[in-house]
Amino acid sequence: MATEQAPERRWVEGAIARWASDVHIEPTSAGMYLLRVRVGGRLHPLGTLERRDGEALVQRLKVLAKLNIAERRLPQDGELLYEAADGRSYEIRLATLPTINGEKLTLRIIYPMTQYERLTELGMRPEEEDVIRRWLSADSGMVVIAGPTGSGKTTTLYTLLGLIDRRTHSVYTIEDPVEVRLSLAHQTAVNEAIGLTFETGLKALLRHDPDVIVVGEIRSKATADIVVRAALSGHLVLATVHAQDALTGIIRFFELGVEPYLVVSALRGVIGQRMRHPVCPACGGRPADCPMCRGLGVIPRPEFELYVPRPAHVPYLLDRRIEALKALLTEEAKYGDDGVDGHRRPVAAMLKKFDGFRAKENATGVKAGDEGDTGGRPSKG
Ligand SMILES: [Zn+2]
Repeated sequence: MATEQAPERRWVEGAIARWASDVHIEPTSAGMYLLRVRVGGRLHPLGTLERRDGEALVQRLKVLAKLNIAERRLPQDGELLYEAADGRSYEIRLATLPTINGEKLTLRIIYPMTQYERLTELGMRPEEEDVIRRWLSADSGMVVIAGPTGSGKTTTLYTLLGLIDRRTHSVYTIEDPVEVRLSLAHQTAVNEAIGLTFETGLKALLRHDPDVIVVGEIRSKATADIVVRAALSGHLVLATVHAQDALTGIIRFFELGVEPYLVVSALRGVIGQRMRHPVCPACGGRPADCPMCRGLGVIPRPEFELYVPRPAHVPYLLDRRIEALKALLTEEAKYGDDGVDGHRRPVAAMLKKFDGFRAKENATGVKAGDEGDTGGRPSKG
């Protein structure tokens, strides 16, 4: 298989071997084509091609994606299914852009999502996994994954979902798009064009007796409001939010206009994650043909932090006094308070402010009995 490889196969295989999310085939002002790959959120140059080889590569990929190869002056986009040497098939989304230097092509590689069984497989420490399993063993509340683009939030989200017993819980997801099909879960894909937004989807699935609600990403006040209320009224909510870290993930809710004390009382905890790019230990960042980093010089890996907000933290978060809050967290840790449980009850009284909770409480009264039969949410650990 390694012999006699077509050039587009060689480049795509190289990108896949490096776990690249995107491949850029870009004409430069110097009359060359530059190939770059995005790995762990960062762009790395992979090589250069003579202009005619670069153009030929673009053309071959356009043929494979069934694009109009005669058209080079207008942008096009398409997709193809790529059968890789590893025996798996990858969906590749492909887009062209006419530039003053020539036709640029960008490939987005969609990896078959690996369903991890344990959070430690993602790089978490065992004690962190234990804390998160405790969060997930609750019947209500919200677990939020905060991180920037490309930090692997979705993988973490599906791993959390895998820790919940779907045979004994009704699980609903609202995603954009659905990335992994799960057995025993009701997954709905957002379709803005016909008005099926995160908000309308959430409102609809709340009428289907959910135990666990998974929200692909919280982007609007409407979604954030529904999610927080659901978490405070007998549902376990798992969601991701775009933010730099765990603390700013909570600030994001405040910025969206959700009452801070409700956010804090709804949250079981926040997982902050981002990609780190440590220098490759094998080649020390001088890759050449390093097999360990595959020529990148770094080995991207996710890094996690766990945070449980308290009412006392709200003023710090509201004023974005992040450093002062970190000092406070260090103090709390010093006194043996792991910040994991408790401190939610005092704010429960605030829930009465909201319409609809009364009715919901009646409904959960029935459900509580049912859950007694099934033994509650198994934590698998
Ligand atoms: Zn290396």
